[in-house]
Amino acid sequence: MGEGTREREDAVVKKMASMLKSGAAMLEQLCPRCGVPLFRTKSGEVVCPSCGQRFIIVRSDEEELEVRGNIVLQELEQAAVNKLVQVVSSLMSTRDYSETSEVLNTALNLLRVIEYARRIRRGVEIGKTG
Ligand SMILES: [Zn+2]
Repeated sequence: MGEGTREREDAVVKKMASMLKSGAAMLEQLCPRCGVPLFRTKSGEVVCPSCGQRFIIVRSDEEELEVRGNIVLQELEQAAVNKLVQVVSSLMSTRDYSETSEVLNTALNLLRVIEYARRIRRGVEIGKTG
């Protein structure tokens, strides 16, 4: 946690950019350890840009459940965003900004939880197939 994490994230983003430049494709699957998108290189290897771990992605019935679960998460995310917009526009109409940052933080935390849940689901899938 803290600034070290941020620096590591920046390094991963640079690594991702260089992989894309070299013709690799970013996949939907996330590394279960790092929570970052995996990449398929030109030679067909699936690799994590953060830890360098290689993966084998297998199609299965579980994948269908996975996709459905993500749709639920997306709907939850959309509901959170809608609520956020609603709250912000309400605050702006009443011109009461005293609680704005608190409301925004709550909404952003909710979005983080949803993203985290999505990563866990991905992590389970990759853990079983790889
Ligand atoms: Zn990784």
